[in-house]
Amino acid sequence: MPEAMRSEQRLNRSHTLPSSKELAWEAKRLESAQPEEILKWGLAVYGERLTLSVSFGGAEGMVLLDMLDRIISDAGAPDIRVFTLDTGFLFEETVRYREEVMQRYDLQLEVIRPWLTVAEQVALYGDQLYSCKPNICCQIRKVEPQERALRGYDAWVTGIRRDQTPQRTDTPVVRWEERFGVAKIAPLAAWDTARVEEYVRERDIPLNPLLSKGYRSIGCEPCTRPVAPEEDPRAGRWSGTGKTECGLHWVGGQPVRAVS
Ligand code: SF4
Repeated sequence: MPEAMRSEQRLNRSHTLPSSKELAWEAKRLESAQPEEILKWGLAVYGERLTLSVSFGGAEGMVLLDMLDRIISDAGAPDIRVFTLDTGFLFEETVRYREEVMQRYDLQLEVIRPWLTVAEQVALYGDQLYSCKPNICCQIRKVEPQERALRGYDAWVTGIRRDQTPQRTDTPVVRWEERFGVAKIAPLAAWDTARVEEYVRERDIPLNPLLSKGYRSIGCEPCTRPVAPEEDPRAGRWSGTGKTECGLHWVGGQPVRAVS
């Protein structure tokens, strides 16, 4: 379906969507449901107004992409848009991996880029914005594109899990995300790393090659380093700066680390 027609359909919200209270109730009802069941519920409620974000850094987004692709192939579910944010500072390996791995799937990927190219940002702010003012850099290259990516959609599927950070321990499988004006669906909220790895093995999903080179949480190249086995997987993100998040995921009005 042409993008213009999809956008028109998305903007024409003819049905009543669940309120934040109803989503809290759904979160309880779906608490022990498998991720595939949660995705099917999301598709039934939001149809084409549901979108999935994948970073192509970690395994979680790939697990959800694989599940969604299977559900849609098996059931002829709606045409779902998958998107990724390309900051312009991604590792070459991540971009190459993204292009190669998407060939496995029928789902179309939309790559969302910042308004400013890297060259324009350098001309305006210098070539070290990610070192001097990383929050501004993340706002320009991640947060604003994410807001744009979710505009016109009603539900955002993300790969965050409860055991990734202390702030995420209470993550419901679905809740209203006031900041972006969407329902935020986290089908893997209750899964641990072992279960994610098991699914990846079962489905033989190729992962970002950097994950086997000591990078256990992969973001932009200037802000990511490999970590030692005894380190926190996210210790390599914005290492030595005190910054631990990019601003895409918030809990209780505070930004939390982004790993999806
Ligand atoms: S992670 Fe680093 S390079 Fe990427 S947007 Fe944030 S500050 Fe900029």
